[in-house]
Amino acid sequence: MTPLPPVAARSRKPKPTAPGVHYRVVAHSTQSHLFAITLSIAKPAARQRVRLPVWIPGSYLVREFAQHLQHLRALQGEQPMLLKQLDKNTWQVESDTALPLTLTYEVYAFDASVRTAFLDATRGFFNATSLCLRVIGQEDTPHQLEVTPQNLPAGWQLATGLTPQQVDAAGFGTYLAADYDELADCPVELGTFWSGAFTARGVPHRFVVSGAGGWLDGAQLLADTQRLCEAQIDFWHGTQEKAPFSHYLFMLHASGEGYGGLEHRNSTALIGKRTDLPRLGEKKAATEKNGPMPALKATDGYTTLLGLISHEYFHTWNVKRLRPAEFKRYNYDRENHTELLWLFEGFTSYYDDLFLRRTDLIDDATYLNLMTKTVNQVQQTPGQRVQSVAQASFDAWLKYYRIQENTPNATVSYYTKGALVALCLDLTLRAEGKGSLDAVMRELWARSDAGGAGGPIREADVARALKRVGGRAFETELRHWAHGTADLPTLSLLAQAGAKVHLEKAPLAQQLGLRVSETNGAIALKNVLRGGAAEAAGMAAGDEWLGVEFAPDQGRQPVEAWRVNRLDEVNALRGTRAKLTALVSRDKRLLRCPLVWPEPTQAVKLSVADAGLLAHWLSAAR
Ligand SMILES: [Zn+2]
Repeated sequence: MTPLPPVAARSRKPKPTAPGVHYRVVAHSTQSHLFAITLSIAKPAARQRVRLPVWIPGSYLVREFAQHLQHLRALQGEQPMLLKQLDKNTWQVESDTALPLTLTYEVYAFDASVRTAFLDATRGFFNATSLCLRVIGQEDTPHQLEVTPQNLPAGWQLATGLTPQQVDAAGFGTYLAADYDELADCPVELGTFWSGAFTARGVPHRFVVSGAGGWLDGAQLLADTQRLCEAQIDFWHGTQEKAPFSHYLFMLHASGEGYGGLEHRNSTALIGKRTDLPRLGEKKAATEKNGPMPALKATDGYTTLLGLISHEYFHTWNVKRLRPAEFKRYNYDRENHTELLWLFEGFTSYYDDLFLRRTDLIDDATYLNLMTKTVNQVQQTPGQRVQSVAQASFDAWLKYYRIQENTPNATVSYYTKGALVALCLDLTLRAEGKGSLDAVMRELWARSDAGGAGGPIREADVARALKRVGGRAFETELRHWAHGTADLPTLSLLAQAGAKVHLEKAPLAQQLGLRVSETNGAIALKNVLRGGAAEAAGMAAGDEWLGVEFAPDQGRQPVEAWRVNRLDEVNALRGTRAKLTALVSRDKRLLRCPLVWPEPTQAVKLSVADAGLLAHWLSAAR
């Protein structure tokens, strides 16, 4: 017989309590670009510390979000409490632990990127890493976020990946996060955005677009995105398992210029060019294979946008769940170094375009054009001989994210070279008849620390997964490709896989060892590449190339000198002469740089040689 519980205990059934950490976010005013935040802590510590993150996961740079925080005050009831700043992003309040503690502050929000926060009369957006002070000691308790429409223009809506608790039809109200990490991983979009929805493999997906006009072909955008989502869910889970999220949100801000995205656990924030979006009335090329909604014959811009969508969605698995061991728990107060971004960003970059091909959103020729760009970008970066992709990953905080004039000489992109490492591994596995990189990714997913659901991994896990799928050790490849600075066997593997490799003359700037911008009739030198002709001539980043001078031919006088406005004019004026003097302006001084015209260097161009072989490479493998 089971004893009955004491009557008193039965009658004292606990009521569901409100979370101990509650944020109320109000627009102070759209004109001042200020959000006003009220943070309520139900049970504060005697010395309660609060901290604002210095970085946002996915964007590997210390951005010091506290620089935008102001007017911080602490109250218990009506009583102002003693508040002390301990370091750049930490404050401490002396509080009575028996009473709730309230902190109020403002955050300036006028960065249109996906990484921080923005507010004006047209749109609002924020990441909790910019707005929500972390309550030290209570990070793992439920967090409530309340966003009100107060002071916002009429008709605004709210979209976020957070779980709604009590919200109105426009989305304003209270949301719940299981802990601070979830709150930090669910950005919020505010405004009069376009909104659409679809279901992919049983999972509801919503797509909101801000900054677009009535010309937007939302149905096309939804249809193409849905194909990508279904293909990626099938990639990771086949048709048996479910996706590891119950709903997903795309937040795209269409802007005049700009491009970028940030991945989150069940959402992504994207920025794309307005002109890259599909427009109503644009001609669509229907093919039977593509089903009822034909794929848009993608323009270059739309292909770029779909590639971004594909990239960030792939991250939902590859970096948000399957992730470097160092990201097991983010440390929001400092750099979180890992040597594995070549896998988490590079492999994601390999698969983003590959999924465009696998879902017939682009054809073979377009796919190879995109691959051509990646191959040339790596080849034309002197930094590939200085840093391995593992080092570039570790140093992302210091080098890749701090772009300056010497960046191409000092570092290699773990995105582009990482994508080529993925390509080389995939083509090697396929050529040896031992599976594919697809199988390696699923092997990693199945065997990570989380036991079959993605989770923290180390490079040793990558080596083990390659060995299990490939039937042999891949340590040599990993050592040379991920930790070395020599060329990858990209071109020979591509040729074996059905691509034709042509070599053509590199663009003029590349031949001279330069990256330039040519605007308003001025040639501005952005980068001078290591070992190139421009470096040998003494030209420097920041110079303006004004003119050229040629020494007199025998018997001919005087010196021949010309003003130039574009780089191709230099070449035309040169004719067949091997030497010239470049006239440049640096810090208002005019300098003469003796330039020896270099032998032509070559760039790669890929095209289709054998469509059958290509199909074998580009198709999904199980
Ligand atoms: Zn990425």
